[in-house]
Amino acid sequence: MSGNRTFTMIKPDAVRAGHIGNILKMITDAGFMIRAMKYTRLSSDKAGQFYAVHAERPFYSELVEFMSSGPIVAAILEKDNAVVDFRTLIGATNPEDAAPGTIRALYASNVGENAVHGSDSDENAVIEGAFHFAGTEVF
Ligand code: UDP
Ligand code: MG
Repeated sequence: MSGNRTFTMIKPDAVRAGHIGNILKMITDAGFMIRAMKYTRLSSDKAGQFYAVHAERPFYSELVEFMSSGPIVAAILEKDNAVVDFRTLIGATNPEDAAPGTIRALYASNVGENAVHGSDSDENAVIEGAFHFAGTEVF
C-alpha cells in the first residue's frame, strides 16, 4: 500500500499567491486521491527537522525560513506509482527546468520558492507522511 502513496506540501509562496485551489485541482485531475490533508504552519524547528537531510547545503537556512514563513497545505496522496507520477506532475526543482504544464512551471517563482514539495521515494513518503499526520488523520 505504501508504494502507492506520496506526500506533498503546497508551500508558503503558492499559498500566499492564492494557488491552493488550482494546485489541488491539478492533483486530483491527475488521478491522485487525497488520503490526508491539513492547512497548517511549520515552526522553524519543524521545518528544520523536515529538511534535515539538507542541513549541510548552502540554501538550508533560507529554506527553513521560507518554509516557516506562512501556512502550507500538507497532504498524503494515493495513486498507482504515486511517487514517480507526482514528481512528473510537479516538474523539476528549478521552474526554469520544469516541463511546460507542470505545477512548478505554472506556479513556482524560483528554485527555492517552488510552490510544492513531493517525496522522492516510497520510503521518504512514509516518513514524511508520518511527520505531519497522526494515524487517525490518514484515510
Ligand atoms: N532548494 C533551494 N535551492 C536549491 C535547491 C533546493 O532553495 O538550490 C529548496 C527548494 O525549495 C527545494 C528544496 O530545497 O524544493 C528541497 O530540495 P530538493 O533538492 O530535495 O528538491 P525537490 O525534491 O523539492 O525537487
Ligand atoms: Mg527533495
